[in-house]
Amino acid sequence: NQAFINNEWYELYGFMESLKIKRNVLLNPGPATTTDTVKMAQVVPDICPREKEFARLMKDLRSDLLNVVHAPDDEYSAVLFCGSGTIGIDVCINSLLPENKKLLIVNNGAYSQRAAEICEYYGLPYIDLRFPIDALPDMQTLQKTLEENPDVAVVYSTHNETGTGILNPIREIGALAHRYGAISVVDTTSTLAMRPIDVQEENIDFCMASAQKGLMAMTGLSFVIGRKDVIEASKAYPKRSYYCNLYLQYEYFEKTGQMHFTPPVQTIYATMQALKEYFAEGEEEKWARHTRAFEAIHRGLSALGFRDVIKREWQAGLVVSVLYPDDPNWDFEKIHDYCYERGFTIYPGKISATDTFRLCALGAIDAPDIEAFFVVLREALARYHVRVPVVYKE
Ligand SMILES: *Cc1c(COP(=O)(O)O)cnc(C)c1O
Repeated sequence: NQAFINNEWYELYGFMESLKIKRNVLLNPGPATTTDTVKMAQVVPDICPREKEFARLMKDLRSDLLNVVHAPDDEYSAVLFCGSGTIGIDVCINSLLPENKKLLIVNNGAYSQRAAEICEYYGLPYIDLRFPIDALPDMQTLQKTLEENPDVAVVYSTHNETGTGILNPIREIGALAHRYGAISVVDTTSTLAMRPIDVQEENIDFCMASAQKGLMAMTGLSFVIGRKDVIEASKAYPKRSYYCNLYLQYEYFEKTGQMHFTPPVQTIYATMQALKEYFAEGEEEKWARHTRAFEAIHRGLSALGFRDVIKREWQAGLVVSVLYPDDPNWDFEKIHDYCYERGFTIYPGKISATDTFRLCALGAIDAPDIEAFFVVLREALARYHVRVPVVYKE
């Protein structure tokens, strides 16, 4: 028996040794660079997720998620879904609108635009309150719109518009929503578990994220955190989706502790490990680390002469949107490929009229990774004869 255990141990040791997973630094806006311990947490014995053991795991996971945003568990619930982050937007929009009421979308970027498109697809009445993508939404316009439209029941906004990196004033938006009798739904997919969030302080009734961004786990698990009284009231609202209805999923969790349909089993194990690492690192310490990476991105960009799209003081501290230089030799694809081959992933922008790329401070990275990236970026610029400092027409 002893020999067997040793053999097994050596086998496992050999397996771990042979893995030596290459470490890529992802500077794209998620999925993020993960730790090896999170990667390995997915390698588990096969289990049927309908076992009591698995239900216990999900109970802990949901309560950990509430703790990440300081949501009291007697008032809030974390409801899990199998899907990428967009499922959270879909779920909130299709589930939380009472009959004969309207949604109001505070729209200043690609992700709030996605919410507007979801309203279109469901044929829901909504107000698309558009603001320039490189500016903060105007609170007076929001207030006036709410005053003039007493049938708005849901005010929807995006915390960090990941396309540009602008930080929206969700606390003020939520306060206005509440003053006019609406709930505040916030897409926190690219801030949750990075920027510290206290749902009650931020006037958030519902927020959402996916496991692959702030939590630094894997793709395939997303969640909505929201007020139980509102979810329970939503039982009476029109049901517009079968798979993505918030009340139905919540009710199933309440009854059985499980997801209605098959959960992403291995991703859940990875997320449990990621949460363990999140609490071990600490909310403030983790945010300080992302801030170090963000500042290193700015240092590196300034040294090369690159310009930001969004005013620095409006940036959420996680995504930097950078203008393409006006240099005939600049070719994003070539620069991308050069960096990619050396373990660094950069990402094109999401701004229709302007050519931009993005560098993000998400994931299990720190300032030295960013510094190493800028060594490679400088090489890439030299290799393709892009002038440094980079040039802009005006
Ligand atoms: C990443 C992200 C999403 C979700 O995108 P998926 O590709 O569906 O994972 C939603 N909202 C914001 C603000 C995001 O940054």
